Amino acid sequence: MAVATNIIVGSQVWVEDPEVAWIDGDVLEIKGADIKVKLTTGKEIVIKSAQAYPKDPEAPSCGVDDMTKLAYLHEPGVLENLKSRYNMDEIYTYTGNILIAVNPFKRIPHLYDKHMMGQYKGAALGELSPHPYAIADASYRHVQMVNEGISQSILVSGESGAGKTESTKNLMQYLAYMGGRPGAQGQRSVEQQVLESNPVLEAFGNAKTVRNNNSSRFGKFVEIQFNDRGKISGAAIRTYLLERSRVCQLSDPERNYHCFYMICAAPPDVFKKYKLGKPQTFHYLNQTNCYELSGVDESKEYLATRKAMDVVGISSDEQEAIFRIVAAILHLGNIEFVKDKEPDSSKPKDDQSKFHLKTAAELFMCDEAALQDSFCKRVIVTRDESIKKSLDPLAAALNRDALAKIVYTRLFDWIVGRINESIGQDAESKSLIGVLDIYGFESFKTNSFEQFCINLTNEKLQQHFNQHVFKMEQEEYTKEEIDWSYIEFVDNQDILDLIEKIVYVRKNVAKPGGILALLDEACMFPRSTHETFAEKLFQTFKDHKRFSKPKLSNSAFTIDHYAGEVTYQTEFFLDKNKDYVVAEQQALLSASKCSFVSNLFPPPQEESSKASKFSSIGTRFKVQYYFDTLHTSNYSSVSNLSYLQQQLQALLETLSHTEPHYIRCVKPNNLLKPSIFENQNILQQLRCGGVMEAIRISMAGFPTRKPFKEFISRFKIFSPDDVKKRCDDDIKTSRLLLEKANLQGYQIGKTKVFLRAGQMAELDARRSEVL
Ligand code: ADP
Ligand code: MG
Repeated sequence: MAVATNIIVGSQVWVEDPEVAWIDGDVLEIKGADIKVKLTTGKEIVIKSAQAYPKDPEAPSCGVDDMTKLAYLHEPGVLENLKSRYNMDEIYTYTGNILIAVNPFKRIPHLYDKHMMGQYKGAALGELSPHPYAIADASYRHVQMVNEGISQSILVSGESGAGKTESTKNLMQYLAYMGGRPGAQGQRSVEQQVLESNPVLEAFGNAKTVRNNNSSRFGKFVEIQFNDRGKISGAAIRTYLLERSRVCQLSDPERNYHCFYMICAAPPDVFKKYKLGKPQTFHYLNQTNCYELSGVDESKEYLATRKAMDVVGISSDEQEAIFRIVAAILHLGNIEFVKDKEPDSSKPKDDQSKFHLKTAAELFMCDEAALQDSFCKRVIVTRDESIKKSLDPLAAALNRDALAKIVYTRLFDWIVGRINESIGQDAESKSLIGVLDIYGFESFKTNSFEQFCINLTNEKLQQHFNQHVFKMEQEEYTKEEIDWSYIEFVDNQDILDLIEKIVYVRKNVAKPGGILALLDEACMFPRSTHETFAEKLFQTFKDHKRFSKPKLSNSAFTIDHYAGEVTYQTEFFLDKNKDYVVAEQQALLSASKCSFVSNLFPPPQEESSKASKFSSIGTRFKVQYYFDTLHTSNYSSVSNLSYLQQQLQALLETLSHTEPHYIRCVKPNNLLKPSIFENQNILQQLRCGGVMEAIRISMAGFPTRKPFKEFISRFKIFSPDDVKKRCDDDIKTSRLLLEKANLQGYQIGKTKVFLRAGQMAELDARRSEVL
């Protein structure tokens, strides 16, 4: 990006720094390709001039509210701009149509009140300071257009703790403010119900993590439906990928889902009825030392959640059943197994374990002996007979955890379903605004199946994003009537192909050929292990340029994602992808005397018809056809990953009918504290969030746009007399100045000068020579 000709002695430059990312300084000397720079820290260094980026001498100290207004659009410029704004509590900044939100980790007074909402009502985007209200208002005005309402979507992304859920709430509040209508007598309005569903979903789907004390462990798409008068007439909530492993596996200093701590702090009658104890006494909670959240009183939270459940239409009987199941799961976790007499067999360890087994069975209202068998034995069905096989203590414990996870997942889905039922859908809705709150790209020291799923989601959304940003750029050029020969941009389709490529075998029958397919295949064959799976990946994709095998591992693989390389450990991929319910557990719970429990486990046939209804697009790729030909008695034909893929396909289908808006949330530091702005950390997030990609796309064209008047005033020095003479014709004057500066490749639009990357710096350098 840096153009050497930009840099002259005395000009200011940005130089890369391992610690603070970018550091500025003055050029003291130029010697061939080298320059000597005096940094603001006082240090003098010699570097290649190509490594230095010119610094805008006229960048306003308070920053600009839209990155595209920066004269020099490059990484250090973007970072510096965000930082100077953040220091003044200006946490929002546009990059064209993208709103960047930097988490302040403190309440900024009057930023989200009614008065503020009133200000944004009807104001053009860009007229006021950047704000989620501005995005919500622009969206609202589109759907509200009588007869030609265009559906909108607002995609909020960012890493955990970056402020996605807070931004989503702000958007919802604004939409409720604009499009709300009083509910029928005694009833709550749709928008109230949507807002009030938050505490319920958070009680069951949020947990304390290292990154966020109240982290949503699921993705959420809220679809708000509008009638032809622009009023909210219905809503639906769709959730994605609840993190199920958290139910039985924790690491310090994180916590399990909030509801588990609430139930342990329930009033004495409930506490006794469910035979509860302190969180410290439950295995599913005591794998970490973190039990409390500062400022949170769990007994109050329990009551508040019950109240919130009333509001979203969950009856008190249902609430009782829900918390009974939550308590049962805690008891499940305390059943330990030891070897029984026969080899490879198991039984509950002691009286304590027997007590928890009995209590769990009571709370699930199912048969205790059958519950024990469902852990310690497995029925093997062969062609001729079925045999009961004993399982060792380890396998029994895995079975127990599998039950806890599936019950919890179904419970969560039930709650979401009930919220949707009680809010109600408007089948005649003319248009909608969808708000997506979804985890951003993840790359940790060790990455497993969960990260793979999350990153697949982000690749898909990134593709959608790139295409949109690209289209918007083209539209701007068309509007200004400048010549725009097709500029190619690099798509991430190759990564998506690697993961989910489909090969058509013959008409209507497709054979998937990507990582996803190989994983599903491995899950079908009893003899597969994560090693055979990894080996198969290495063989199949050895020539794929986005795929590689790490040198030091035979079971890990690396994908070169749009946001960087991630190495995945395959160890638990197979187990985590298998989405089947152990047949014995299914039978056991569907026979529960509690209808709430048995409804969570409808008989399998019913379930499959439900599944096909769920994935509204149907399985476009007919993945099942192929797998049905394999022997799949034990597993349902839809794995977790292919289910996610179907959900994503449906989501993108919905999004494709909407006009998208993007909010990219940024977490300025990992201490979750105000006023700390960590450059490297933030840059990495801007890269992952596609902000840098959006900038790259615009750099390929004409990233710098200056309205004629501003341009002329900045460069009139090139030809002061001409400027005076021609002051009536901006186009001619601008062209003249550009010619005087001997610049090539720029364009002149209807209202602005369009410059290629680096040209502004070139002009500035020339200007300071003249001065
Ligand atoms: P995410 O959903 O991205 O994981 P959250 O929206 O839960 O993150 O935000 C994490 C925390 O950061 C919140 O609990 C809140 O304390 C703080 N926070 C986020 N956004 C704001 C904001 N706009 N103003 C003040 N505090 C915020
Ligand atoms: Mg969240």
